[in-house]
Amino acid sequence: MPESRSTSSNKLTRALSMMLGFCGPKVRCLFGGLLTALIVLNLTLFPRTASHFVKASPFLIVSFDGFRWDYLSRTATPNFDHIIKTGVYAHKGLSNVFTTSTLTNHWSIVTGLYAESHGIVENDMYDPILNKTYVPLYRDKYARNDPGFYDTGVEPIWVSNQLQKAHGRSGSIMWWGAENVIKSTRPTHHMPFDYETDYRFRIDTIIKWFTSEYPINLGLLYFNEPDHTAHKCGPDSENVTKLIEYADELTGYLFDKLKEKHLFGHINVIITSDHGFTSTSRERLIHLDKFVDPSLFRVVHYTPVLSLIPNDGQEKIVYKKLKDASATNNFRVYYKKDIPERLHYKNHRRVTPIVAIADLGYSFISNMPDDQFKAGGNHGYDNQELAMHPFFMASGPAFKSGFQVETFESVDLYPLMCHLLDLQPAPNNGSMAVVSLLLKEEHETTFITLATYLVSLVIIATFGGVFAVGACRNRRYLKRTARPINVSEILGGNNGAHIGLLSGDEEDEF
Ligand SMILES: [Zn+2]
Repeated sequence: MPESRSTSSNKLTRALSMMLGFCGPKVRCLFGGLLTALIVLNLTLFPRTASHFVKASPFLIVSFDGFRWDYLSRTATPNFDHIIKTGVYAHKGLSNVFTTSTLTNHWSIVTGLYAESHGIVENDMYDPILNKTYVPLYRDKYARNDPGFYDTGVEPIWVSNQLQKAHGRSGSIMWWGAENVIKSTRPTHHMPFDYETDYRFRIDTIIKWFTSEYPINLGLLYFNEPDHTAHKCGPDSENVTKLIEYADELTGYLFDKLKEKHLFGHINVIITSDHGFTSTSRERLIHLDKFVDPSLFRVVHYTPVLSLIPNDGQEKIVYKKLKDASATNNFRVYYKKDIPERLHYKNHRRVTPIVAIADLGYSFISNMPDDQFKAGGNHGYDNQELAMHPFFMASGPAFKSGFQVETFESVDLYPLMCHLLDLQPAPNNGSMAVVSLLLKEEHETTFITLATYLVSLVIIATFGGVFAVGACRNRRYLKRTARPINVSEILGGNNGAHIGLLSGDEEDEF
């Protein structure tokens, strides 16, 4: 490329063009290659800021049902420990949603809504408009949910993922609520609830979805332990300790699979739960029959949140009897309208006219002698109780390393997940205030990207300049016919004598 054809007014460009014009084809070839590399770097690296990389990452959320925030201190959990060390952790767990039940909280995680906003107020519900009672799948796996309980205008994250993103695909392994069609949308892949399904098979399946020809970018993975065993044996039992170890082992298996399939380091993973647990006992029973005639009301849910629908005209008497009894027993009772605001519970039609909440560890029973009560463990209590709080940890390219916060609200997970997936969140009760602290700061990673770009630029320019100038000087020396070029003058200040260090008397290899 002769210098006369150069139309650029840029001094550097002009200088490089002129130099190349005097150089041999090998030098031009090398320099052309270097410039191409520079352009490729420019086009690919620089415009794609770190936040873009992060938001484009696939995302997986894992729930171990009933995994209390402090379970990790019970036994050796090397895999969880490693995630905490290399990722982020809420060392006091999450403040979850009242009622601290499974369906309510799994639905809050994926919608960012409190119970009164999303309407899954308990595992058992009665809807006065639908005039139907909800039967959860864990109680009857052949039950078919009425979508009217779920498809009420709320938008779980897999629906947003599939409606907002052209290639948004989601996969749910038994996530509560995902069996329902919402806004005419179901998860792209869905494994229906069956508590007997092998846990490693669940992991293998979701890994398969992440690595298929049309991969999912959002995965939801559910395990029904240690909840099931804690109900039977109590959260402090040795059996639950073994299940904590098993959950750790499964997490190790999951991360081994992520590494094997080259997803590790690219995928963001949150590991959490829906609620904690407390033990119950026959010494802490609240006999309803002793206080109020059971024929005066209908029970929608028994314990530890007692949801009552009084018969017509019986509301005042039922409330008064319970209120009087609560003075000397371990529970509180409310008219629906008086349920404390902080519970974010009362403003939904599925909340019954009278609600009583047992104190931690206490159980309501009716028509049952003490010795028939199966003491074990339970949850569902006031979400102010620390024992009801689930654990939380996360790792992946978006998250800081070895960073901890004390706690945050589980409804904050939804805006966090939307951020990770680059989705516009639906209206929600969550906040990014605390969870944003878990993320690598975008300007920090953007700076790293910019620095990488500039270093690459300097290296390429230096090599290119040195080789080109050296080659030119050598060629000029050999020919002794070309007019000398004052490179330093064109470049504006560099001493040409210094640039020619490589040339000397060595033979030009290009
Ligand atoms: Zn649960």
